[in-house]
Amino acid sequence: MKIQKPHAVLVASPGMGHLIPVLELGKRFVSQHDFQVTVFAASTEASTVQSHLQNSPEYTNNNLFKVVSLPSVDTSASVDTDATVATKIIVMMHESLPALRSAISAMKPRPTAMIVDLFGTEAMAMADEFGMLKYMFIASNAWFLAAMIYAPALDEKGLDEHANQKLPMKIPGCTAVRFDDTLEPFLNANDPMFQGFLLACMAMSTADGILVNTWEDLEPKTLAAFRDTKLLGRVAKAPVYPIGPLARPVGPVGPPVLRSHVLDWLDTKPTESVIYVSFGSGGSLSAKQMIELAWGLELSQQRFVWVVRPPIENDVSESYLTVGKDSNGVHDYLPEGFLSRTHCIGLVIPMWAPQAEILGHPSVGGFLSHCGWNSTLESIVNGVPMIGWPLFAEQKMNATLLTEEIGVAVRCNPAAADGMLVGREEIKTMVRRVTVEKQGHAMRSRVKEAKCSAEKALSRGGSSYNSLTHVVEECETGLQGLIAKSHG
Ligand code: UDP
Repeated sequence: MKIQKPHAVLVASPGMGHLIPVLELGKRFVSQHDFQVTVFAASTEASTVQSHLQNSPEYTNNNLFKVVSLPSVDTSASVDTDATVATKIIVMMHESLPALRSAISAMKPRPTAMIVDLFGTEAMAMADEFGMLKYMFIASNAWFLAAMIYAPALDEKGLDEHANQKLPMKIPGCTAVRFDDTLEPFLNANDPMFQGFLLACMAMSTADGILVNTWEDLEPKTLAAFRDTKLLGRVAKAPVYPIGPLARPVGPVGPPVLRSHVLDWLDTKPTESVIYVSFGSGGSLSAKQMIELAWGLELSQQRFVWVVRPPIENDVSESYLTVGKDSNGVHDYLPEGFLSRTHCIGLVIPMWAPQAEILGHPSVGGFLSHCGWNSTLESIVNGVPMIGWPLFAEQKMNATLLTEEIGVAVRCNPAAADGMLVGREEIKTMVRRVTVEKQGHAMRSRVKEAKCSAEKALSRGGSSYNSLTHVVEECETGLQGLIAKSHG
């Protein structure tokens, strides 16, 4: 008799930074646990999904792994053009629900479990309706999750102290969150939208479990606080499963011309001598800031690969949902003569680069990053120390975690995330600190230790492997329940 395996439905919210880790989670369920997986990518074109599966050809023709693009939704009538990227994603997810519902209701037999990301809490009601298990997948770290889980438990005094008096938010058993690093909703806690944020945070606790992209040895204190019922465990109702790091594997990725160009160029450079500079799938800098960055790189006299996209004024996340749709020439917004002066030591790549491959290349010795969590993990699993230049979302918390707790990054002046310029001299100093100075050597050995602990966590019997196995077993039990019900 053929044994039926669990079928997990994964829902990814719009944006490459959301889709990429969900695809990795789906791949892991298939490769390690023989699950059937359907990934629903909200408001994302099929071609975009396929281009991100190019480095995993074994999944493009795999009966167990299917990716369905939910049709793009038009939010122009319901969202102001100047709304935050988070607001736009919330509305896009809301408007994608009918398509998701009709797709799931047509699935026979019914899938066993639904796994949604940070913006998918609304979809969890559908799992209840269809008798499926429901999990959240937080593609970030446990400290960020702690802040989300604890936010609704803040009393009036705690909220006032953090949001109005700008004092640190104290989370039981965890490092306090400084106001300078706080999550965006706390900047406008008197706005009616803040209640929506708290409701979404509360909904997380109704899940059967929360999968988080971290591992025991990376964040031992925070993960212990979740388990302690006298600390964060008092408010965290759903069990937390650290299953990371889920990071993209290094493999051939297209388009081929670009691949050979960047990697061939890196092949000619000495080991750990190149700084990779990128602000994620949608981070942008102002025109003035780009000029300073260009000068900083040039003055550092270090080798670099820099992914550039056109400058955008006053909105660091402006291109998050549109990346790849524009490919202007770079000459217009870099200092005059920059490309010719640096052509021996630097490579400028417009719009998008094969990041996982670049970070996996032995010539790369540092990463100037906006500290998006996927980028952070890709850096750690390749043993590359970082310069943290956070821009939006939870990136300031990530930068603090990397510099003050894990010790694998230096950080640029925090005011940069609030629109202040980071000057060329500071950029030069940070780049040299990571590539040639003693502090860089210390960070490099710490990041290599973190890389080893990540490998250990993921190996059979390791903490993250066991955590995911626990979820798998719950799904298998859930499937038996569904089968018994259909026979009864
Ligand atoms: N990425 C890439 N090439 C680029 C820019 C980004 O492959 O030129 C990938 C990167 O490897 C990572 C993801 O896009 O997997 C970005 O996710 P992250 O969480 O770092 O930041 P976000 O884009 O969500 O701000």
